[in-house]
Amino acid sequence: MKRKRVVVLGATGSIGESALKVARDIPERMEIIGLAANRNAEKLAAAANRARPESVCLVDETKIDILRGALEYKPQIFSGEDGLREIASLANADMVLIAIVGTAGLRPALAAIDAGKDLAVASKEILVMAGEIVRREAGAKNVRVLPVDSEHNAIFQCLDGRASEVRRIILTASGGPFREMPAEIFVDVTPEQALKHPTWNMGPKITIDSATLFNKGLEMIEAHWLFGVEMKRVEVVIHPQSIVHSMVEFADGSTLAQLSYSDMCFPIQYAVTWPDRVPNTLPPLDFGKLSKLEFFPPRYDDFPALDLARRAGETGGTLPAVMNAANEITVAAFLDRQVRFPQIWQIVESVMERHRSVAHPDLDAILAADQWAREQARAVIPG
Ligand code: NDP
Repeated sequence: MKRKRVVVLGATGSIGESALKVARDIPERMEIIGLAANRNAEKLAAAANRARPESVCLVDETKIDILRGALEYKPQIFSGEDGLREIASLANADMVLIAIVGTAGLRPALAAIDAGKDLAVASKEILVMAGEIVRREAGAKNVRVLPVDSEHNAIFQCLDGRASEVRRIILTASGGPFREMPAEIFVDVTPEQALKHPTWNMGPKITIDSATLFNKGLEMIEAHWLFGVEMKRVEVVIHPQSIVHSMVEFADGSTLAQLSYSDMCFPIQYAVTWPDRVPNTLPPLDFGKLSKLEFFPPRYDDFPALDLARRAGETGGTLPAVMNAANEITVAAFLDRQVRFPQIWQIVESVMERHRSVAHPDLDAILAADQWAREQARAVIPG
């Protein structure tokens, strides 16, 4: 069995850390040959000193000296956005893990596809904004797009290539920290409360998205593009324990589910070793200690993100990119205490309503819509 040579973009983040852990756990199957981050030079250097990849990249060129000073060996160093695309195309890489928060991963992902590298995608935002392009380009280059998002990795495992026999894809959602909170008091929610996810430990943006349920909305569109299943077949169920990571109901009424503890090392490993399953040190489920697995319908009226995402996914074109970009700006404003929690939905909806979607957009049209939505969202944020 071949050892996969992997480049990790977003190495200093939560997914990046898990990927480094997986590489240490299954060294005979995964070798890290490139690590990239945005501006955290110290953390990137520490990760590189431990994993010893042949190349590293820091996008922020002003921090390169800090990186150089902290490295204990002499890897090839890239910088800037061009550097990110170069490290995503390293000649001897087999796979590029896209774990950059937000939309900045799109261009390096396309560069990796262009260079013939398989993708492992954690950054759902890039599939939401440009799913059609990513799928088309990957098809043209005959490269694989393997899902790392736990729900999509679960669906991928359940599907096992049988997408045409699917009746429904059922995405599970923990419901976030406000699953049972009355909607009347959403207005008083603080960033600190929203950042306390009940079952997952993740970066700040996705944690806020989990509290608004925009994360699940983005995942509905991600599932549509990854598996070629129409939006109307993609459903959401609240599952507070985060043990069932998602389910597929097939034409004959049978449902398959994938279960494990909520640790991103599981889906990262499967994306790297697929189609093989190899032993690791991760804890298997202890069913004696799992007292219950619950499932509830979402509170659609109180968490409008799901309906907004369905509208965006069904309309298609540039609308998903607009929803995603407006959400990104508004989440940052919420974390900066410039807007209140329910305004995240309101601002995203108002930007979506003003947008005239362009069907089958090319990359320029998508990036223009993304930019437009950011400006529109910023214009209504106070301060
Ligand atoms: P984090 O905020 O923890 O980490 C983000 C990473 O992206 C950091 O390494 C950061 O570098 C890097 N980065 C940010 N902006 C840029 C940029 N412009 N160019 C290059 N690198 C950049 O995020 P997460 O790890 O939580 O999430 C990453 C992606 O994975 C997101 O799309 C998220 O939706 C998805 N995901 C995350 C899950 C999780 O459990 N965390 C689960 C499923 C999906 P620096 O530190 O230098 O700023």
